[in-house]
Amino acid sequence: MTEVDVVLSGGEILLTDGRLLEGDLAIQDGRIAGISTDPIAARQRLDVSGLTVLPGLVDEHFHVFRNYGWETYEGATCAAAKGGITTVVDMPLDNPPVLTEAALREKLAAIGGSCHVDFGLFAGDPEGAIDELDGMVKAGARALKVFTGGVAPPGMYPGADTGGMLELFRRCKELGIVAVAHCENAEIVDTETARLQAAGRSDVAAWDEARPWYSELEAVVRVALLGEVTGCRTVIAHVSSYQSVDAVTAARARGADVWVETCPHYLCLTTEEMAGDGRMKWNPPSRDSASVEKLWQQVERGEVHTVGSDHAPLPKDPDADIWAQLPGAGNGLEPMLPLIATETRRRDLGLAKAVELLSSTPARLFDLYPQKGTLAPGADADVVVVDTRSNRTLDARELEYHDQEKWSPYDGRVVDVWPVYTLVRGQVVFAEGEVRGAPGDGRFLPGRQADACS
Ligand SMILES: [Zn+2]
Repeated sequence: MTEVDVVLSGGEILLTDGRLLEGDLAIQDGRIAGISTDPIAARQRLDVSGLTVLPGLVDEHFHVFRNYGWETYEGATCAAAKGGITTVVDMPLDNPPVLTEAALREKLAAIGGSCHVDFGLFAGDPEGAIDELDGMVKAGARALKVFTGGVAPPGMYPGADTGGMLELFRRCKELGIVAVAHCENAEIVDTETARLQAAGRSDVAAWDEARPWYSELEAVVRVALLGEVTGCRTVIAHVSSYQSVDAVTAARARGADVWVETCPHYLCLTTEEMAGDGRMKWNPPSRDSASVEKLWQQVERGEVHTVGSDHAPLPKDPDADIWAQLPGAGNGLEPMLPLIATETRRRDLGLAKAVELLSSTPARLFDLYPQKGTLAPGADADVVVVDTRSNRTLDARELEYHDQEKWSPYDGRVVDVWPVYTLVRGQVVFAEGEVRGAPGDGRFLPGRQADACS
């Protein structure tokens, strides 16, 4: 190989077959040029001896909540770079939500120069104006987000009824985009909430009881059926309970193109650990330790396919009761890789399993593979280099937060995988604790049906 732009030298490189190979990773023109056990000549050499080289993460469940004042694209994508995330797919839960082609084009123009990592966009639920979905896809959206009824906080996002979802899934199938569904049954949630509030309950456990596993399961069964009959690729967002995974496994056995996403707060937090802290509120809730263990067994069996952050750093009030508290598990971008990779290694699933959940499978599901999600030659040189040689303690004070108290449900958690360098298309955007890139380094990734690509 002739002299290339950049070489990461001496690290253990994760190959596409899951093996680790000690050698040099070559980067030319922002892409992976090759992997070799022999030294490769380069104009720039980054010594990563003793470290492990992985494909950058693809986070398909990323929120900035534009125009709420809680977060900025610059801040959130800095957090992504620090967390080894090189691509985010941004949700449409802006204020107001992005439900039309005009809104999506306005958003793209506004945020295009603000991101430190590459980004794609979700289309929102057009509430019956289905041609707007075509328009959003033409403008570059690569996925649709739906909620199964009125289960978002009031005014934040429309709920779809079953007929509306059927129509949307049919159109997604025609357009060739993936549908992602937030699954809870609104009637069950409303009934249980009223019952618990009437009983005077306001503790953390009441949130789990108000949005129970059966409210999730009912909606998952409904959405998986719609995915099955329409043939639309469907991802069940942030699955919290093993019962829901079993329902998807059954639908998949019948041939449905339906997939399970979960999040760090369903795999690495239990209701027992959360008791007494009123900030520990998100939708759906985390579950008890026996349920979390079953979810991990499903991860091991390959029945859970992807992990997204559901990054949602809404301000928390330690004194607010559970009904008044804003939802969200805080900055989910920086702790995600350390938490999940530490746990997959502890369970003898290795780093390869973490990469499958956090990078290669989300890249495949969101039509980004093999440009993203692999270190194969020709792929974008999106890389995270991690240190697995020592323990480190997660510290909420080190996390990116915009204009609010820094907080994390994982504060004090000991992990043994830690990002040291992050590269986006060959450019170092994070190194040794510092974000090195600039806003605007991240590029928009339009879906393949976008008018710019046709
Ligand atoms: Zn979300």
